[in-house]
Amino acid sequence: MPCTVVVGAQWGDEGKGKIVDALSAAADVVARYQGGPNAGHSVIHRGETLVLHLVPSGILHPGRRCLIGNGVVVDPERLREEVDALEARGVPARSQLGISPAAHLILPYHRAVEAVAESGPGAIGTTGRGIGFAYRDKAGRTGLRVSDLFDPGTFAARCDQNLERLRREFPTANLAGLSGASLVERLAPVAAWLRPLVCDVSEELHAALAAGRRVLLEGAQGTLLDLDHGTYPYVTSSAASAAGGPLGVGLGPTVVTDVVGVTKAYTTRVGLGPFPTEMPADEAARLREAGEEYGATTGRPRRCGWLDLPALRHAVRVNGLTRLVVTKLDVLDAFDEVLVAEHYERRGERVRGFPGSARELEGCRPVWRRFPGWRCRTSGARQWSALPEAARRYLEWVERELGVPIASVSVGAEREAEVPRG
Ligand code: GDP
Repeated sequence: MPCTVVVGAQWGDEGKGKIVDALSAAADVVARYQGGPNAGHSVIHRGETLVLHLVPSGILHPGRRCLIGNGVVVDPERLREEVDALEARGVPARSQLGISPAAHLILPYHRAVEAVAESGPGAIGTTGRGIGFAYRDKAGRTGLRVSDLFDPGTFAARCDQNLERLRREFPTANLAGLSGASLVERLAPVAAWLRPLVCDVSEELHAALAAGRRVLLEGAQGTLLDLDHGTYPYVTSSAASAAGGPLGVGLGPTVVTDVVGVTKAYTTRVGLGPFPTEMPADEAARLREAGEEYGATTGRPRRCGWLDLPALRHAVRVNGLTRLVVTKLDVLDAFDEVLVAEHYERRGERVRGFPGSARELEGCRPVWRRFPGWRCRTSGARQWSALPEAARRYLEWVERELGVPIASVSVGAEREAEVPRG
């Protein structure tokens, strides 16, 4: 604080939802800066698990202002469903929420063409929500933004142009019945619902910071899924790393004072692409069950592996991390041994740094450091000294190797299951 970015230090699903929820207690404004409803941030609220896809994870704190920045792609109908579901559970989400008019829209034709693209040889294992194609339109200057919903004539004409182009490019996509006019008609109710939420996110955040209020910028996915710094092409289509924070909400980089990187005590990834520390199937199955490693958005089983230091060093560097939060330590409680990739080797030679391409990464083999497991429950620990010595040794070694202080360790899904670094 006053301006903290929370970023995933791995391939996403690190438990950012819980951490943003916890840090929101000390924040005045929370803003999402990129991604779309492919994010699935799980937060426990009054004993129930809520999965937030577009709404910032600060929403469960009464009165907390929550903003969706220009860097996010918004499926307006899904946003409305999510807000309605929160309201039905007694969270007055609508009154806390604001959205940038410059956020791009995910439209039904994005999902239809993604279904075709993901069924072919170029598939990368997306969540199928049209996000990549909405960002493609943004970069190609053919996208429609939240503000365009309020100019139906232009909106319809631009949709028709896009549909004509996509029908040529994806002749097998199910675009039947879609037209500019039908989309305007379909989206009219949600446009009216959304209009009062539109605000100048950049201006509001500037004013908040100028008034000494504390701002939290919430990322989705993780560094290794960042469009520029991830394992391209197996990445998401936006700037998931910390630099995307100010960019995605209309602030300059100089306002960021703190960058919190969230990492699990091990590694998971969903979708395709190289994963050097992936475990053999039987061990992965054991960890998947212990950690309930199934996608919050899709339910897909996550691929599981050990902690990967070359990947985390890369995350420290490209994000400028100032603090680390380690989640899901408790999931390793029953393991006899805990492994970490200290560095990689390729063709018998030590690899420096983290390879910039998925192809190079595919050829890397981890060189392991082995730690004895602690073989006892950590979920009740609330102080560093209450953690088993073997767990502390493991964490303190990781901290030293990365050169970034651990701020806290999470030992359970609930808000209070947190151990500050002593
Ligand atoms: P996000 O997208 O980064 O917010 O991560 P997800 O919400 O997809 O995945 C994190 C999952 O782990 C959620 O189900 C959380 O409730 C759960 N979780 C978070 N921290 C911990 C922890 O320390 N221990 C355990 N066992 N579960 C946790």
